[in-house]
Amino acid sequence: SLSDRLTGTFRNLRGKGRITDSDVNMTIKEIRIALLDADVALPVVRHFTSQVRERALGAEVHEALNPAQQIVKIVNEELVAILGGETRRITFAKQPPTVIMLAGLQGSGKTTLAGKLAYWLKDQGHTPMLVAADLQRPNAVTQLEVVGQRAGVPVYAPERGNVEGYDAAVEYASGTRGYGDPISVARQGVEEARRQQRDVVIVDTAGRLAIDAELMQQAADIKDAIRPDEILFVIDAMIGQAAVETAEAFQRGLDFTGVVLSKLDGDARGGAALSVAETTGKPIMFASTGEQVKEFEVFHPDRMASRILDMGDVLTLIEQAERAFDKREADEMARKFMADEDFTFDDFLQQMAAIKKMGNIKSMLKMMPGMNQMRDALDALDEREFDRVEAMVRSMTPFERTHPKVINGSRRQRIARGSGVSVSEVNQLLERFTEAQKMMRQMRRGGGMPGAPGGGK
Ligand code: GDP
Ligand code: MG
Repeated sequence: SLSDRLTGTFRNLRGKGRITDSDVNMTIKEIRIALLDADVALPVVRHFTSQVRERALGAEVHEALNPAQQIVKIVNEELVAILGGETRRITFAKQPPTVIMLAGLQGSGKTTLAGKLAYWLKDQGHTPMLVAADLQRPNAVTQLEVVGQRAGVPVYAPERGNVEGYDAAVEYASGTRGYGDPISVARQGVEEARRQQRDVVIVDTAGRLAIDAELMQQAADIKDAIRPDEILFVIDAMIGQAAVETAEAFQRGLDFTGVVLSKLDGDARGGAALSVAETTGKPIMFASTGEQVKEFEVFHPDRMASRILDMGDVLTLIEQAERAFDKREADEMARKFMADEDFTFDDFLQQMAAIKKMGNIKSMLKMMPGMNQMRDALDALDEREFDRVEAMVRSMTPFERTHPKVINGSRRQRIARGSGVSVSEVNQLLERFTEAQKMMRQMRRGGGMPGAPGGGK
């Protein structure tokens, strides 16, 4: 796996400065292999890696990571972004019924999905109906009826004798043509759903084994007849390199609105997801994960990204490295804090920079030994207050920062002017600072901060 291959690269490398050409080349090579292993189509791999290369080159390396980890982090972020960032939900029509049309190659899993989607919608309080507009194969209608029965959802089908051309079943048997017109079945199915006040109607359509002009025309005609709110393109996750060509054909022929990835329960690492998302820019909305009606889920871009790169371990490693680094910084700060030196405004600046960098004061406090008492006080400070304080400290001279006692009236005025605050704010800061210094001296005399490891009694 990618994790195994990158483990070597991870050793002994510390993050420093900027990502270099050779860092990128080394890591991208591994990423490329991982993507091809996952069956991502070659042109997509090329485009994707060149995008990542561009972003990675010259990027700053997070101090906690080595360049390879940093690049993997970028790769993961880009993957998640292409796979859709946040999942898109079904767009429901303002005026029911919401019409959902399914399209895709034969065997891609449309009919199976129809049942799953219907079951899922019903579970959420909707009242779906299925329409059997695949009249290509003799058993397609029966299959949908079985699926509908399992999902507990009604099926509109030509067998009911309510469709023009039904008698042509005989002709179908003789191999001359289908036993009905899928376009009128689709149209009548939607009408029936409206008449029965169903709020969603899912139209199953025919596929072919390969992309085919006649099939695409039929699908386009059905689309024109029923004006779907959603056209879901169903694609088999095992399709591999053919994903791009197939997706492009359906995109051109139907301009579908969303993608469903089927058979994700198999061995496929799901490269098709990236291929389709990259080529069409359409959101992947659902994943089909088995033959049963409940084996269906809303698509998760982040899970898919780690499946494609097979890099769950790597990402965990990266997270751990980042967390460990933050902890190290916090420990260092705590050490200074407890050392027997008077606290200066320089220390103060350093602490504020660290706090800002971490972004989250509370989480940092959790990592600092013995800081529980300060929690409330720091919690009360808001971010803008930090900025003002920082501006004031930056307006002090280096000598003033280490010897705050010299800051007299005229110096206070200068600092106030320099940082755009009032003199009374400078006064308040100095007052608070003196108090903090005093408190720290007391704490040390008392034998360290309560609760701090090694603080003594
Ligand atoms: P359609 O021709 O597009 O309607 O495809 P079907 O729904 O008839 O599915 C074709 C075959 O794939 C059937 O044998 C299904 O049971 C199977 N199938 C469909 N979806 C899945 C899935 O998510 N996982 C697995 N393992 N099999 C599936
Ligand atoms: Mg089918």
